[in-house]
This record gives sequence, structure tokens and C-alpha cells, in this order.
Amino acid sequence: MNQLDRMRAALDALDRDHLRRIRRDNEQPCSPHVLIDGKAYLAFCSNDYLGLAGDPRLAEALAEGARRWGAGAGASHLVSGHYTVQHDLERRLAAFAGRERALVFPAGFMANCGIVPVLTGRGDAIFADRLNHASLIDGMLLSNAKAHRYPHLDLAALERMLAASEAPAKLIVSDAVFSMDGDVAPLRELMALAERFDAWLLIDDAHGFGVLGPQGRGALAEAGLPGDAAESWRLIQVGTLSKAAGVAGAFVAGADEVVEWLMQKTRTYIFTTGSPPALAQALLASIGLIEEGDERRARLAALIGQLTAGLAQKRWKLLPSRTPIQPLIVGDNATALALAAALMNEGLWVPAIRPPTVPPGSARLRISLSAAHTPDDIDRLTEAINRQESCS
Ligand SMILES: *Cc1c(COP(=O)(O)O)cnc(C)c1O
Repeated sequence: MNQLDRMRAALDALDRDHLRRIRRDNEQPCSPHVLIDGKAYLAFCSNDYLGLAGDPRLAEALAEGARRWGAGAGASHLVSGHYTVQHDLERRLAAFAGRERALVFPAGFMANCGIVPVLTGRGDAIFADRLNHASLIDGMLLSNAKAHRYPHLDLAALERMLAASEAPAKLIVSDAVFSMDGDVAPLRELMALAERFDAWLLIDDAHGFGVLGPQGRGALAEAGLPGDAAESWRLIQVGTLSKAAGVAGAFVAGADEVVEWLMQKTRTYIFTTGSPPALAQALLASIGLIEEGDERRARLAALIGQLTAGLAQKRWKLLPSRTPIQPLIVGDNATALALAAALMNEGLWVPAIRPPTVPPGSARLRISLSAAHTPDDIDRLTEAINRQESCS
């Protein structure tokens, strides 16, 4: 067997284990209404929680940005690929997040896997929730620091690990809203542990930014952090601009000198071409819509309540979540796929999430809701799932 034969066998094994992933090519812009091979579906898949990705105002701001700034940045930010509109966006994001400074990255994945190795290196220690996003896990591997992964949300285990560590630099790292479970980390308690054990605290608010907190300022703002914490410099936050904000990119925010250091040292920032400046123009418009988006957030909250109340079937359980991420735990991969396929037959698209994205035996439908859904959409979904209870 040569390398290609081994790869073919591995692909066959993915089919056998119901783990092969496919892409579907949507013929429409991002919205709950998708068109695939000419067939219409109602989708519960996207992270476009506020329904902004397809908003004509953002498309117009992007077009205007492209007319003003052209298509590309031409170089990395630290060479010549940085523009005043991007400076304005960073100022706006810092003010919105209530931090001294923000640094915008082309993607959340690059922000996370780039900054973790700047904060910690060989001989240091990282303390990570076991369900953290892949980008944080990869950052941990890149750092060469000792990785301590604590059971999901288990503060007592985290405290024991911190107390036992003599590493010179410690970093606690956690998703704010967990991407496959929808639950929210105990942020105030994590900050207290960071202060007590002289650790950095890195919080990835990919799914809270725009959705939680006053004016959608995020999970940390909702928890009152950093507030007037004496050691607010310990807290470094990441927010993505690709989910509720509906565009692309991410930002890291924190104390002025900390962000300056990250800009000097983060390889995924230094050695990549700057984002197209037109994106910054669209994002400035997006932050405005998020800030004045209380009505969208109220609609979203009502849809979440309608879904949790409407799923009357008893066979599968929703995880407890107050966010737009509502996972219905099915268990084995084949059943999760069969349920997703049955819904697809009824014109409903809900993704089945399988290992390795989630732990083995916890395959699920990840229902994600958007302010662009209507109450009728939620009724269609809950009725279809309730009907499926007795099938297959
Ligand atoms: C999506 C996601 C990221 C990556 O952000 P992108 O901008 O899509 O690269 C990082 N962290 C979490 C928790 C996410 O869900």
C-alpha cells in the first residue's frame, strides 16, 4: 500500500463510520432560506445570529468600501497593508468592548492560534476547558506550554490544577459561549481565579459578541467584566466579526500594552496579508447595527423560548442553553445523520454534528437560531422533530 492507497482506505473508513463530511452549494445569500440544487430549504445552521450577513446595508457598505479602498490590502499590516478605515474600526471595537485597545485579525482561528503562543511558551502552563474551540487547542499545541485540560466548566478541578502549578506564566483559556453546547462559562469566577493565581485569562467570545450583554457588547460585558477590576490587564478577549457581526474577521481586545505586545509578536498577524480594507467599512456599519439591535436580540430571545417550549418529544434532549445555539443530543452518529436526513426530506436543514467536533457518543443536531427566523419557522421545526420521535 502506498500513501495514496492509505488515504483512500482512510476515506472509506470515514464513510463506514458515517464521518465523511460534504459541502452543499447554496445558490442564495446567507439567510434562513437556502436553495440547493434548485430545492428550497429552511436552514437552522448558520452563526448569523442577528441576520446581518445578508443585510443590504452591510452589502452596500462593503461595496462603498470597495469603491473607496479597492479590493486588496497589498501587504501585511506591519509593512504597508494597514488603512485609516481599519484604524477607525479598531478604535470603535475597543470602545464598544470597553477596553483600551483592539487589534483586528482576518479570522478568529488566526487570532486564537496566534496569540496563545505569545502569552505562553515552553515551561509555562495553559489551563483550558476541555470543550474549547479547535483554534484555542491548536494555539495551545503551538505554544509548547504544558497543557492542562479541565473537565467542562469544572472550576474546582481548574483551581486544583492552578494550585499545583509552579509554571512562571499561567494562562486560563475558555470559550465564553461554547460553540457546540451553547452554554456560558462562569466568567467572573474565572477572572477571580486568574487574579488569585497570577494567570492571564483569555476569553473567546465568538458566539456572545453581538448577542449577549447590553447593546450586544458580549458575554464579558454581560458579566460586568472587566468593570473596575484592579487587574483588568489580565483579561484578554477575542470576539469574532464573522458570526453575529455578519462579515469576516475577529478582534483581540485588552489593555493597551498587552495588545501592543500581541501586535509585535503574533505570527498569524505579522506574516499574513492585511484584510481587505473594504471589510472594515462593512464592519463599522455592522457595529452600528449591533449597537442599536435590541429589537433583533429581543426577537431572537423569543424564538429561543419558543423552540425550547415547543420540543415536546422525549426521545432526545436539548442541552440547557439560553443562547441561539440549541443542541439536541441524539447519541450515535448514524441516528443523528438519519434524523438530519429525515428533516432534510421535509425541507428543513439542521446540521448533524459528529465526533471529532463533539465527544464520541454525543452526536447531535446543532440547531442555531437567528433573528431572521420567524415564529412560523420555529413551529415548522419543532413539529417536524416531534413527529420524528417515533420514526426509525
Ligand atoms: C468560529 C469560532 C472561531 C473562529 O472564528 P472564525 O472567524 O470563523 O475563524 C473561534 N472560536 C470559536 C469559539 C468559534 O466558534
